[in-house]
Amino acid sequence: MPTHIHWFRRDLRLANNPALSAAARESGGAVIPVFILDHALLRPEKAAPARVQFLIESLAALDAALRQRGSALVVRQGDPASALAQLAAEHHASAVFFNRDYTPYARSRDACVAQVLGERGIPARSFADQGLIEPPDLLTKGGTPYTVFTPYYRQWRPQAEHSLAAPLPAPAALAALPPGCDHGHIPTLAELGHAPVARPTRGGEGAALAQLAHFTDLDNPHGIAHYASQRDTLALPATSQLSAHLHLGCVDGPTCMRAALEAAQCAAPAAAPQIESWVRQLAWRDFYTQILWHHPHVRRGAFRRQYDTIAWENSPQLFQAWCEGRTGYPIVDAAMRQLRDESWMHNRARMIAASFLVKDLLIDWRWGEAFFFRHLLDGDLANNNGGWQWAAGTGTDAQPYFRIFNPTSQGQKFDPDGAYVRRHVPELASLPSDYIHQPWAMPPALARELGFQIGKTYPAPVVDHAAQRPRAIALYHVTGNQNSHEL
Ligand code: FAD
Repeated sequence: MPTHIHWFRRDLRLANNPALSAAARESGGAVIPVFILDHALLRPEKAAPARVQFLIESLAALDAALRQRGSALVVRQGDPASALAQLAAEHHASAVFFNRDYTPYARSRDACVAQVLGERGIPARSFADQGLIEPPDLLTKGGTPYTVFTPYYRQWRPQAEHSLAAPLPAPAALAALPPGCDHGHIPTLAELGHAPVARPTRGGEGAALAQLAHFTDLDNPHGIAHYASQRDTLALPATSQLSAHLHLGCVDGPTCMRAALEAAQCAAPAAAPQIESWVRQLAWRDFYTQILWHHPHVRRGAFRRQYDTIAWENSPQLFQAWCEGRTGYPIVDAAMRQLRDESWMHNRARMIAASFLVKDLLIDWRWGEAFFFRHLLDGDLANNNGGWQWAAGTGTDAQPYFRIFNPTSQGQKFDPDGAYVRRHVPELASLPSDYIHQPWAMPPALARELGFQIGKTYPAPVVDHAAQRPRAIALYHVTGNQNSHEL
């Protein structure tokens, strides 16, 4: 039997892992499992410490699971092509197996790896993974990529369900690492140059599957059976919180889809639309993956290139206030402080905070995108870029530029009693619900009674939303989009 290498990347799990299963099957279990730390992606100026900590934990969990099966995770650092070529040469591996990753960076890295290995006569064999449908596999009738979500989803939905194969079990046993094969070591956060994380999120396949089971439990009052009704209520834990796990492949899209379909089979008919609403989010993930695949220019600029000419005001002071959660708009500040405190932010809060940066502060969406990416536990190039371009009105199904979120009414609608704001902005905790989203409107006598002073206990609004709205529209008009109502 040959020895194969399985190169783990964003597939940090043993179950339902197509490349690992194939490598194990074809080698009778003689697989060298390796992860290569890529410093280009892990540097403190690139990645949130919480995200790196999550990766470290996920690797430790993977190593433990491999050891239970008689193997262990081999860890290397640096250039993947040379690390893999060296490992293959040292242990006479016949092939390197991996699951595909669809970002531009991963694609060029993998092409380079395949070339280097190919020159040494070692085939690189890649498999579909991560989402439910791979980017090139879903095109319009005209053979072009989809750029609008709803028609994409209409075709995605039956195809995604139809293509679900039986789940692949984790390999029951794997061969011990070959003699002399150095395990390497999983570095600590400090070794990677990051500050400690106060409240780390548990990473790894076990944690991901437990979270999926909790979310799809029909008895969970904030679970999948209530998703559509509760997903926008900012104070509730009513979304799956699986994004970081999905990003690193601690759980995969098909496993999530299967769990949702099983829940739908057991649930009362009234729960069907609630569950379907969550399945739709899995489609958004595939949608943005294929946008980045087909249109890699979105990484650097607007999907609709005419918006690259917008003359953003880019005030460093306003940007700083936004980053620090002291804009004087409670819902925006709560969102930004949730990001700072938890390295995560509720989806509705992401939409509000992003819209505020772009359309109230008139700051280039790419500044916000980069800030989110550096701080999010689930920072994901395709989803983050898609979300920002949506909010900025520059993307595919974008929020039209002339539709501008009002931060006060968004707060009143999605955090009606102010619980989310009170949790993240403690200096507003004692305010009555009527004023929690507009503390500047509080009658002076009541403010005095509460010991609250706008501009002292809490910042005055850094801009006037009503005044900024026409300015934002004018900024977009300069690009000649007066008639862009199709957006
Ligand atoms: P759930 O609501 O339970 O959804 C399940 C899964 O579907 C998510 O885990 C995620 O993988 C996917 N999903 C949900 N919503 C979206 C969406 N709008 N676009 C693409 N996939 C989606 N998501 C990231 O994973 N990484 C990011 O860096 C990221 N940045 C964002 C930035 C902005 C400005 C916006 C508006 C959205 C961003 N999102 C990002 C999408 C979304 O906010 C998160 O996926 C979601 O909040 C994660 O929470 P959850 O796992 O509980 O999601």
